[in-house]
Amino acid sequence: MSAPVLDTLLVANRGEIACRVMRTAKALGLTTVAVHSATDRDARHSREADIRVDLGGSKAADSYLQIDKLIAAARASGAQAIHPGYGFLSENAGFARAIEAAGLIFLGPPAAAIDAMGSKSAAKALMETAGVPLVPGYHGEAQDLETFRNAAERIGYPVLLKATAGGGGKGMKVVEDVSQLAEALASAQREAQSSFGDSRMLVEKYLLKPRHVEIQVFADQHGNCLYLNERDCSIQRRHQKVVEEAPAPGLSPQLRKAMGEAAVRAAQAIGYVGAGTVEFLLDARGEFFFMEMNTRLQVEHPVTEAITGLDLVAWQIRVARGETLPISQEQVPLRGHAIEVRLYAEDPANDFLPATGRLELYRESVAGPGRRVDSGVEEGDSVSPFYDPMLGKLIAWGEDREQARLRLLSMLDEFVIGGLKTNLAFLRRIIAHPAFAEAQLDTGFIPRYQEQLLPVAGELSADFWQAAAQAYSQSQPPRTRSDDPDSPWSAINGWRNGLPAQTSLHLSCAGQDQAISLGARTAAFELQGEHLWTEQQGLRREHRAIRRGDTLYLNWQGDTHAVSAYDPIAAAEASHSQQGGLTAPMNGSIVRILVSPGQSVEAGTQLVVLEAMKMEHSIRAPQAGVIKALYCQEGEMVSEGSALVELE
Ligand code: ADP
Repeated sequence: MSAPVLDTLLVANRGEIACRVMRTAKALGLTTVAVHSATDRDARHSREADIRVDLGGSKAADSYLQIDKLIAAARASGAQAIHPGYGFLSENAGFARAIEAAGLIFLGPPAAAIDAMGSKSAAKALMETAGVPLVPGYHGEAQDLETFRNAAERIGYPVLLKATAGGGGKGMKVVEDVSQLAEALASAQREAQSSFGDSRMLVEKYLLKPRHVEIQVFADQHGNCLYLNERDCSIQRRHQKVVEEAPAPGLSPQLRKAMGEAAVRAAQAIGYVGAGTVEFLLDARGEFFFMEMNTRLQVEHPVTEAITGLDLVAWQIRVARGETLPISQEQVPLRGHAIEVRLYAEDPANDFLPATGRLELYRESVAGPGRRVDSGVEEGDSVSPFYDPMLGKLIAWGEDREQARLRLLSMLDEFVIGGLKTNLAFLRRIIAHPAFAEAQLDTGFIPRYQEQLLPVAGELSADFWQAAAQAYSQSQPPRTRSDDPDSPWSAINGWRNGLPAQTSLHLSCAGQDQAISLGARTAAFELQGEHLWTEQQGLRREHRAIRRGDTLYLNWQGDTHAVSAYDPIAAAEASHSQQGGLTAPMNGSIVRILVSPGQSVEAGTQLVVLEAMKMEHSIRAPQAGVIKALYCQEGEMVSEGSALVELE
């Protein structure tokens, strides 16, 4: 049989994985087809494709999960194959069958293999027969409380209830003792029913401080199956991976081989083809237990690519064309170490609530050897509430783990994101944590160090405010089109027409306001392009400082801060404009009065100049009118709230 033609590939996904799959497809000379929802019309994955097809809708259920529309899109665009990415329909056997029925190629395993691993219970039963070690537990059909109580008694508390149809940590409950069982079972069943439409449960021994170690497997259509080493994904939040690395620190070659061979047995037991992952828990004694198999390319596949030098998407395409795996088990490379972090638009300070909005500023770290960023967004893109808020992944490779870790830290430092809350600083604290540096990895890592990883927002330091004020004033957008460097308009010291130099700034950042005296511009703070140099005790340090309109984004101690100028006068004007009377927004002295009673003024006319906190503020007419009365004199000290001018 001749190899099927595969020159056009449709990617039934969005975000970073769609971009990543298309990158390899393009490198191999394939024509790429993106599908997008109405919301994603201009999303990066749509922009990067050769052909794009509009699925309509916004919610995943109306777009990326519409099997018929996806197949019609493949037909219309001439794609012979569909890559499902991860999530969405990637582990949906019905999708794989529909693709096959349409005479197209599914870049994933046979539908029967997806079915076999679709239920955690069925998968465990199957693995038991294939001789793959399981976490002690019960995964039978009977679902009554009595059965679960007996099973839990037999395996010993604590136990973990899991939804057999589960994923993403949903429907999972730890039960410490028998008194909690009935309630936990009922609640987990309800959660599973509402998330997966299937309330069936299994129960397992809840391992204390296990590591999550998974094996990447790859099989061709000719019965060959390899394991491409392991990944350690123990750094998790609520049973969801946050950091992944390869190889697993401290794993002996013997254990790697034992786990790898068990994973291959698991894959072969279900006639697997393509890329898959067999997940295990590893306990402190070095015993490992099968958890589940993910029948798709994983989010964290780049760390495997980094240590093997292989391109797993290229292998998926080759295998789909009927080629045999190009290497043998002994030839699988393992070089150096790689670490990946998942970058999310979310607010760690607010229980990791997903963040939506526009990426006003988005700068990835500098590319270079051992540095990879797989992302699905660019500056100016918006993160919508409809899909997973992952922006992308940062992957660092090094000759050893410490080199990879330091490289990743520097990548995190260089990343600048403004306009949206992200977990960048949280990721940075994990990678910088001494316990992470020492590879003390287990699934309890994040809860254990929670307080150090999520410091409460304290007062911003005086150093920060001074740096922000200097960067802000030095980055003022030009006031005229004149580029003449000698023109007073180009001065950065706050020179303003007809007024003395502006000597202080009111800034706000993270809900805090501060008036900062600028003083003379000194060498201690120098903005060069987008780099602010600060000097202290003879040391010059660089910080990213980028201005976007009225907002300055300043990278300071591992976090991006959005700083904006706060105009107390404008705020006061806004609040007083309805009252006809104009009052002093703060204590200060009247330096000038520019109008007299009976005078007509336009909206915006300067009425009075007040000096407060070493800075001059203009009080302007909020609307056109006639000056009825003046309640102040030049040189007079006035207190906050006192009436200055009455406008009719
Ligand atoms: P899901 O499919 O919902 O992601 P998994 O079965 O893959 O659920 O488990 C997710 C994570 O939950 C694991 O990586 C591990 O941290 C934790 N976990 C799962 N089973 C156990 C267990 N028996 N003991 C301790 N932790 C477990």
